[in-house]
Amino acid sequence: MFRSLYFKIVLMMIVFILTILCVVSTVLLGSVFSFYTDQFIEQMDENFQPASLLYTELNAALTSASYAQEQKAILRSYASILGIDQYRNYYILTPDGVMLAGSDAQLGASLPITPNLLSAMGGGEGNRRSGNAGYADYAVRLDGTENSSIIYVKDTLEEMDQLNSRLLSIILLTFLVGVLIAILLSFFLAKAITAPLQSLTVGAQLVASGQFSHEIDVHSRDEIGVLTDTFNNMKNVLKNTLLEIDGEKTKLETVLSCISDAIVAFTDTGAVLHSNESARELFGAPLQDGSFTMERFFEEFDIPMERRSKGIMLSVGVSGVERSDDGTLTFRDKVYSERVFDVSLGRIRFISDTEKRIGLIAVIHDVTGRFELDKSRREFVANVSHELRTPLTSIKGACETVMEDPEMPEDTRRYFLDMALTESDRMTRIVSDLLILSRLDNKRTQWKVETFDLCASVRHLLDVMRIDIETRGHTVRFTPQGEIPPITADKERIEQVVINIISNAVKYTPPGGKIDITAFYADEHVTLKVADNGIGIPEEDQKHIFERFYRVEKSRTSETGGTGLGLAIARELVEAHKGTITLTSTVGKGTVMTVTLPRVCNPS
Ligand code: ADP
Repeated sequence: MFRSLYFKIVLMMIVFILTILCVVSTVLLGSVFSFYTDQFIEQMDENFQPASLLYTELNAALTSASYAQEQKAILRSYASILGIDQYRNYYILTPDGVMLAGSDAQLGASLPITPNLLSAMGGGEGNRRSGNAGYADYAVRLDGTENSSIIYVKDTLEEMDQLNSRLLSIILLTFLVGVLIAILLSFFLAKAITAPLQSLTVGAQLVASGQFSHEIDVHSRDEIGVLTDTFNNMKNVLKNTLLEIDGEKTKLETVLSCISDAIVAFTDTGAVLHSNESARELFGAPLQDGSFTMERFFEEFDIPMERRSKGIMLSVGVSGVERSDDGTLTFRDKVYSERVFDVSLGRIRFISDTEKRIGLIAVIHDVTGRFELDKSRREFVANVSHELRTPLTSIKGACETVMEDPEMPEDTRRYFLDMALTESDRMTRIVSDLLILSRLDNKRTQWKVETFDLCASVRHLLDVMRIDIETRGHTVRFTPQGEIPPITADKERIEQVVINIISNAVKYTPPGGKIDITAFYADEHVTLKVADNGIGIPEEDQKHIFERFYRVEKSRTSETGGTGLGLAIARELVEAHKGTITLTSTVGKGTVMTVTLPRVCNPS
């Protein structure tokens, strides 16, 4: 209540009125006093001047022996002119100040010697103002030939005091009425001031709670109206600024979430400051539940860094770290959760509790693909070298043996030359298979698309492979199911796929095996299945079987002359035709290879 604006305004008004009344009463009472004393002196001066009738009469009376009584009589006749009453009296004194006669003998008996009286006794003028002495007096000395007397008029100022007390009571009454009016006025004034202030307060509270839609009504054009208007503008500017910041934040978050690299920012205390979607996917639960820290991150990625009080330090003597000009450190080929990453670490500045701080940002780039590619390239080169060196060594050995022994029997020489020929055929096969793959890789294969009957091709190819099949004593059956429409594709390349699959079934099935080939048409696709009851492919090898140079056991294929490129080529060719090639296999029971091709293919 005492803090309210209403109370303060009432208090202010009362103090204001009190101050004014104090000033007014002081001035008024002071003026009344000086007016009264001035009037007194003026009145006396006028009547007691030497040219005045009263003065002449009083002077003339000095010749008489009873001059005092005569002067008293003269003064009595002038009583009304001199304003003589119960508070103002006149006295006739000897030049020594002894009272001879007066209007109030009782008061006159104990007259104090005032400065004016003293001055008149000394022969001077007695008309000076008495100041705050509490009386007003006037003394005039009359000197006749025989006698001298002093006429002394003294006013007790009681009349003036009475007037002043009346004035004071009027002032007090005015004060009381003023205070009542002030209280009433203050109520309306406070209402007029506080009502817009209250709606401003409500508006400010809404803004503080994040609600920007509330617009405060402006009712006046005074200072409060301008303040309300300014507040509304400020609120709108704040709203727009916050929207802009929010927009920027959303943009940044969208950009960060679109980045496939995992990004995590840490504070200087090691806690996660920010992370993107990829980081949350990579690190999973620890990142969500807050248990993921900078230390844990360093540990997981085996990064030789540690957090110290003065920042994040790289352990001494670590090599193989790439340092860029802006101070970013990159650790290559870090393995985490069976994937390979390049981890870049940089410093970030952020503000926490209005304090500028330095944290760490980690960008974790998945290089598993590149790593695998590099690895498979290295393996491929090693495989090619190995595959070519074996036949080359055999050819070189055979040639040297033949050359070193010219006397060699004919059949032995033929044996070595046959061996050299077989190995050079194998080399030619490898090289031409690699060439096919290289053309497919570089998209330089010249496709010859035509419409042909796949079943007719299968039958034709079985005819071509008949000798091989019969030599191994296999039984081969081809039973197309339903009507198979002709397909549009590169006939030669599709036949290559069929040869590779059937020849594998023939090669990897022990003599006297059964090979069942079926074909069917469904949903615009033609499917060819080659099932054998051969040695089968172990489960762990199945996912690698279409890789270049991959063979289940090297020894398995050395006798069959396999290169490990047949299925790789088959898959590349089928996929170039937008088809699929899959297998199911059980060791010791057999393998089923399934090729599905669209009826109309446009290989690329
Ligand atoms: P290769 O020229 O060695 O036959 P492929 O790429 O055609 O090369 O086959 C890769 C490997 O897959 C073969 O070495 C063989 O071990 C295995 N394989 C392929 N087809 C069969 C099958 N029908 N039965 C058993 N193993 C097979």
